[in-house]
Amino acid sequence: CKMDKDENLGPGCDVSISEINNINKKIRKDILSLVHTDFFKYFKFDPFKKCTIWENNDGICFRRSCAVDVVEDWDSLPEYWQPEVLGSLDNDTSEQDDALHSKDDDASFLNQLCDNKDKAADALADDVNYYDINDFLSPDAVLVDLSKNPERFTGYGGQEAGQIWKAIYAENCFSSDEQDKCLAKDAFYRIVSGLHASIGTHLSNDHLNTTTGEWGPDLDLFMMRVGNFPERVSNIYFNYAIVAKSLYKIMPYLKELDFCNEYDNDVKQKMINIVSQLDSKIFDEDLMFQDDWDKSIQDDFRSRFKNVTKIMDCVHCDRCKMWGKVQTTGYATSLKILFELNEADETSRQHVVDHLTKFELISLLNTFDRLSKSIESINNFEVLYNERIDCD
Ligand code: FAD
Repeated sequence: CKMDKDENLGPGCDVSISEINNINKKIRKDILSLVHTDFFKYFKFDPFKKCTIWENNDGICFRRSCAVDVVEDWDSLPEYWQPEVLGSLDNDTSEQDDALHSKDDDASFLNQLCDNKDKAADALADDVNYYDINDFLSPDAVLVDLSKNPERFTGYGGQEAGQIWKAIYAENCFSSDEQDKCLAKDAFYRIVSGLHASIGTHLSNDHLNTTTGEWGPDLDLFMMRVGNFPERVSNIYFNYAIVAKSLYKIMPYLKELDFCNEYDNDVKQKMINIVSQLDSKIFDEDLMFQDDWDKSIQDDFRSRFKNVTKIMDCVHCDRCKMWGKVQTTGYATSLKILFELNEADETSRQHVVDHLTKFELISLLNTFDRLSKSIESINNFEVLYNERIDCD
């Protein structure tokens, strides 16, 4: 697509597409290796959670490609994911008791896992979250190995998927008098559009050719969904900048984060390798609410983003829903770090960093991987496109 790769990405981003391409080349290998570690490759989500956005959410995706392979062979899991450590999840009690029970189990699991305090319970009490923390406390949640359920073409689409995207974009309607000038509103749109474009890139990059039966990149599809729209490409890079800055912001505390016993040092070192290549100028979160800073806009932003994470419960394709949950929770974690963490204030540090849960960290790093992979794919598609032009 025709765009200036050396131009900065826009308000808040003092970095260009070329610069991000360079950073990404340096850290891509480490990110990939990190999300394949035992700590980061497992994710818990509830495919049965009720859609609260619409009364009628009938529809189901029967394609094999929409399915998620749930972990059933528990013996193959690392010790800290074993059921006795996780605790029993199916108690025959009232719904409220269930939530409480699984909350306790989750908390004790986290204690044992990471030698942490009662993180899950603390998370329940705080009001800084951009996602619904109950997502990870549900008794119906299943455990999945993300590396065995890649994000790729599933065939999910049509009116059902269109309706989900419409509902997500409809959240971008802030109650500011100066709507057109609101940077927060623009950023909200860019995050959602960047997520949408990143999904479009993955489904085009890992696409099923129904004639040959083989999976691979489909340049025409990519151009139709993403490549022909410079704004969409730029929004993927914008999201990369946001997530990268949130990782940069927690860098000083990485030593204090616990990634579980024997895996701790290896995982921590990989993270430090990645984060040490990032730069503070990549995104300036202080500009976001500066123009018309008003606590109500920030609260509005938080609750609207939380709604986006809830809309994921309405997605009919389980594989899409799972990756939708991973990524919306990842952005929610980034936003919490960017906007609720004030490094100069010890209480805010304790409130945000010390209470980051395992699932937030898993989502955050996997979201970064998704964006990093999208950027790698965009560069590959550019090569394919140039080869095609040369041939013509
Ligand atoms: P859609 O992508 O459904 O888009 C609807 C409209 O939004 C478009 O007509 C266009 O006007 C606008 N639009 C499109 N892209 C952007 C953008 N980046 N920014 C702004 N506006 C835009 N399919 C898979 O194959 N694999 C997946 O893993 C997958 N995950 C999904 C996860 C979620 C949460 C959702 C809601 C859908 C997912 N899908 C997935 C479906 C996929 O996103 C598309 O909806 C589907 O491929 C149909 O595409 P479409 O061309 O009809 O338009």
